[in-house]
Amino acid sequence: MKQTFAVIGLGRFGSSLLESLIAAGQDVLVIDSNPALVENYMDKATHAVIADAQDEDALRDLDLPSFDHVIVAIGHNQQASILTTILLKDMGVRHVVAKAENNLHARVLAKVGADQVVRPEHEMAQRLAEQIMTPNLINY
Ligand code: ATP
Repeated sequence: MKQTFAVIGLGRFGSSLLESLIAAGQDVLVIDSNPALVENYMDKATHAVIADAQDEDALRDLDLPSFDHVIVAIGHNQQASILTTILLKDMGVRHVVAKAENNLHARVLAKVGADQVVRPEHEMAQRLAEQIMTPNLINY
């Protein structure tokens, strides 16, 4: 089913997510404050916008509550990630997924209303550890 997505932040995580969504035929708006990155993804994304996600007026202009999912793919800049998440929830975005850098950041994001918090490196490491250990368990 076709859904609408907005991805805020075009770092390694945001850009990989964008590529997967586009490959699956979804509509994706991308937002980043870095003009060079936005320029790079202009051809791939459905829409690409240069904006500071901490700027409430700029976010409002993008009509984000009309999107099915908004992903805050800013991790390193924790202040920007937290403020963006609060602004999105306050303006009525239904499903906000936020990327956390560490456990404390994840707890703050959940407290300010993120509907889903992901820690890609942590989750991938856990999955890999389980995967590596499983054949040994089967062998015994
Ligand atoms: P990754 O690990 O996915 O590469 P990261 O966790 O290091 O990313 P950041 O470097 O903080 O995350 O940010 C990812 C992207 O988000 C960058 O391209 C950056 O330009 C963008 N970004 C950071 N702050 C803002 C903001 N306030 N508004 C819009 N984009 C932002």
